[in-house]
Amino acid sequence: MKKIVVFTGAGISAESGIATYRDSDGLWNSYPVDELATPHAFESNPKLVLDFYNMRKKRISLAQPNAAHLVLSDLESKYEVVIITQNIDDLHERAGSTQVIHLHGEITKAQSSIDPEIVYEWGNKPIFIGQHCELNSQLRPNVIWFGEPVPNIKIAQKYFREADIVWVIGTSLSVQPAASLLKRASYHAQKTIIGMDLNVKKKPYGYKFMRGKASSLVPSLVRQLLR
Ligand code: NAD
Repeated sequence: MKKIVVFTGAGISAESGIATYRDSDGLWNSYPVDELATPHAFESNPKLVLDFYNMRKKRISLAQPNAAHLVLSDLESKYEVVIITQNIDDLHERAGSTQVIHLHGEITKAQSSIDPEIVYEWGNKPIFIGQHCELNSQLRPNVIWFGEPVPNIKIAQKYFREADIVWVIGTSLSVQPAASLLKRASYHAQKTIIGMDLNVKKKPYGYKFMRGKASSLVPSLVRQLLR
């Protein structure tokens, strides 16, 4: 079976109504995301950070997978498919994809704030101040913040190296080390970036760029592969 790696970012979930952080509105405009998505932010104002992620979790729980998420799961009938996502939402899983690697964590899980390996299934419930892990430290969302290590990067690099086909969907390629994964793909792999815009300086050699919405381009690419 041919191997496909699909690398996704916030753009694939935009049409499901999950805003990219840059589009976030209301209260959060006064708090740049860089000031909320850091360990320092959590230390200095844990309630603000928990409120922010509880709000995101609520929005995500109400969203539905769109056509792009759904057709990607159809590929599994003919290909070995691994989805590597920067997203913390669970829309790939809810669309039926069975191999999903989250580089930046999962909003439906909670983790200890002193040991990142202590992780709990938390579902759609909010996390409140005073809820503790078994080591008696405050729980936080299972989300990788700026400046924290990305444990799944090694396994993601391996899948990129082994892929025959690489699709990159809905990412600005501005977050590292995730963006550098593209360079791990084989010279011989067929490599495509799908998105609304692309900073050409971020496009590695050998990738073709297709401009457009994920929900219209991805279904037609999937149909071609399944023909
Ligand atoms: P980004 O916001 O930096 O870039 C999104 C990209 O998607 C842009 O290039 C944009 O042009 C493109 N895009 C927007 N709508 C699209 C559509 N309909 N079809 C195709 N492309 C579309 O997102 P990023 O590169 O993923 O990096 C942001 C970071 O924020 C990530 O680390 C991610 O973990 C996190 N984040 C996650 C979620 C989520 O879980 N859904 C949402 C927001 C942010």
